[in-house]
Amino acid sequence: MLKNHVKSIVAFSKSIFGSPSRSATGRNPDSHRIIPREQHPISRKNISAGALKVIKRLHEARFEAFLVGGGVRDLLLGGHPKDFDVATDATPEQIKELFRSSRIIGRRFRIVHVRFGREIIEVTTFRAHHEDASGQHEAAKSDHGMLTRDNVYGDLQSDAARRDFSINALYYTPKGFNIHDYTGGMADIQQRLVRIIGDPQTRYKEDPVRMLRAVRFAAKLDFSIETASAAPIRPLGELLRHIPPARMFEEVLKLFMGGHAAATFDLLREYELLGHLFPATEAALRQGEGNAAALVRQAMHNTDRRIRDDKRVTPAFIYAAMLWPALQRALGQDWRQAGAEAQQQAAQTVIQQQLAHTSIPKRFLIPMREIWDLQWRLPRRQGKRAERLLEHPRFRAAYDFVLLREQAGEDLQGLGDWWTRFQSTKPAERHKLLEQLGAQPGGKPRRRRRKSAAKPGPHSPPDAR
Ligand code: ATP
Ligand code: MG
Repeated sequence: MLKNHVKSIVAFSKSIFGSPSRSATGRNPDSHRIIPREQHPISRKNISAGALKVIKRLHEARFEAFLVGGGVRDLLLGGHPKDFDVATDATPEQIKELFRSSRIIGRRFRIVHVRFGREIIEVTTFRAHHEDASGQHEAAKSDHGMLTRDNVYGDLQSDAARRDFSINALYYTPKGFNIHDYTGGMADIQQRLVRIIGDPQTRYKEDPVRMLRAVRFAAKLDFSIETASAAPIRPLGELLRHIPPARMFEEVLKLFMGGHAAATFDLLREYELLGHLFPATEAALRQGEGNAAALVRQAMHNTDRRIRDDKRVTPAFIYAAMLWPALQRALGQDWRQAGAEAQQQAAQTVIQQQLAHTSIPKRFLIPMREIWDLQWRLPRRQGKRAERLLEHPRFRAAYDFVLLREQAGEDLQGLGDWWTRFQSTKPAERHKLLEQLGAQPGGKPRRRRRKSAAKPGPHSPPDAR
């Protein structure tokens, strides 16, 4: 279906573009094309009622208002936009006055959230280049060329130039049903290219997160990153260290919870960006020991499948998988034999190091540690332990993690399968499965030690904890 849509776009864009005239850099900043309704597939019925209401009310108040960003892009590609953004010449204060349930958010980049029931429409005021600012405090740059404030207002054309990629800078108006294209976005949709607007180096320096966004859109849309837009990514990747960890965490969620985590992961590695998000993981993957890369990739693949099946995905599981190779590495070769104390210490170290790059809110951090901890406890199933483990709030995630390790090629001597059977067996018959354990390697019932000797040392076997 997506392919057909692209074909129809190719047809309609050929009819209006002929051979697109572009400057040597591939951009012609002064070109303004208006694509009339009969030459594009966007129809009002695919746009959320909330977004249409916002635009209508802004128009009634004699402001300009357009649908822009992912909404327009995804509709052109035949997809279902996850949200709709509106751009207008009204200031945040003017927008707020027009909509009762709205609030101004952000400092670096002020926008207005307008709420319609459960839907939130992001409304942004047209931005302009900073050179246009007359020394106001609306714009600020750090020593690294990074925009720390971006609130210089402008018109539609300047707004287009301030956006990140040409495919995200197409403006649709339900007034005449036209699309306004200032940056060659329609041609790039047709050629399936992620092209940054303006000088790539300058634009990545202004906001290094744009490098992650380039990769995210390329993976999500199955587009290529245009050559000049791709070239500075590897050398400039390290600028990501200037991004606050909280914003990085938000970006990580967008990268891995958008339904295209596996493709995104591959591109992050290809563009050498993973090391700036998860340095300890990248180091472990580079060492190439065991099945680290297979495990992370499989986790991403499973996440994508769960999203397709409308199943719940949690950042706790994603982080548990992403940092698992780092945890193994911190524990050293005998990680399986690590005792509780060594394991806790290694987990603490890995987490501390990671927090310098991406934050991890407590509500995910604690379950992540529990998933890890249970990896050492699930093999110890004797007696009443198995029943008790089933009751653990993180049992399901930890069991999925065992399956993941096995899928990635680790030999856990049938542990996943045993737990699968245990769960599907009636409680009254579960003792049979426990009895079989004695005969299995690694499943031997232990002789009970006296309490004083029970505390495990760092080299105790995993089932001695
Ligand atoms: P999706 O919502 O599907 O992830 P999107 O393109 O709508 O994709 P948003 O993060 O919702 O992305 O941003 C909306 C629009 O704002 C983008 O399409 C782009 O035009 C602009 N934008 C967002 N982030 C940046 C940025 N860092 N630099 C420049 N423009 C940006
Ligand atoms: Mg969006």
